[in-house]
Amino acid sequence: MFKSKMVLAVFMVFAIIVAGCSNQSSSKKETGKIKVTTTIGMIKDIVDEVGGNHVETIGLMKSGVDPHLYKASQGDIRKLDQADMIFYNGLHLEGKMVDIFEQMSKKKVTVAVSKDIPESEFRSWDDGTEGHDPHIWFNVKHWISATNTVRDELIKFDSKHKEDYEKNAEQYIKKLEELDKYTEEQISSIPKETRVLVTAHDAFGYFGDAYNIKVMGLQGISTASEYGSKDVSELRDYLVNNKIKAVFVESSVPKKAINAVVEGAKKKGHEVKIGGELFSDAMGEEGTPEGKYIGMVKHNVDTIVNALK
Ligand code: ZN
Repeated sequence: MFKSKMVLAVFMVFAIIVAGCSNQSSSKKETGKIKVTTTIGMIKDIVDEVGGNHVETIGLMKSGVDPHLYKASQGDIRKLDQADMIFYNGLHLEGKMVDIFEQMSKKKVTVAVSKDIPESEFRSWDDGTEGHDPHIWFNVKHWISATNTVRDELIKFDSKHKEDYEKNAEQYIKKLEELDKYTEEQISSIPKETRVLVTAHDAFGYFGDAYNIKVMGLQGISTASEYGSKDVSELRDYLVNNKIKAVFVESSVPKKAINAVVEGAKKKGHEVKIGGELFSDAMGEEGTPEGKYIGMVKHNVDTIVNALK
């Protein structure tokens, strides 16, 4: 009896030491870097750019992943739990993770990068439901605001490196301003009457507002909503009547819906081509130009212009 109690006591001491160690290895002190966990890749990109050498960033949602439907795994929860800071989009983009962010915000810095954009800038949902369109990264100016938010939060957390964060943010924002200008110039080169962007789901509303292109989506703002045969026939008729040359598929949305529209138009004697694949809610593969925010936006702009011009 005595012996087994001893064993238990020794085991418990050991367990405490192990727990203590693993706790320490995840803290800033040991690696010297701030551990940041983000949701979509576009946010990871900002943190990498602004944080530079001072951060170690994990992005939960990889290439081709749909954030609207994304459920956090046990592994993800661990990555959030071990982070010093968490950045997410907000506006219910990560619709199935809202409770998790609320829990995490009680114990660590948990920030929605959309938080400093004035509410008047947000688009409402077309179907009249409450809340706002979350796809803010498609107005590059909003993504500049998100970059400022990340910079300010990093400075708040780690004021020692204030100057580095300011310098990195300034350099990145300069590139974003160029990207904004490029997008505006390119899109305005498409003739007004065919300047229509047709996609599977309504991710491009901010893009349309910012760069003056009409946007039509088949599936509504969240991929969680279903599309019906009425949506397909309405969109088909629009394409036929307005002689729209091309529609676009999205990397994170199944292609079935948009193919049905193309087939329908063909039956009515109007040839619509698939203008290419756009990155909407997820970026391209890591290591490719489209795996970065700037490359992703450029890819979309060039694809749209080539197909519609
Ligand atoms: Zn979306």
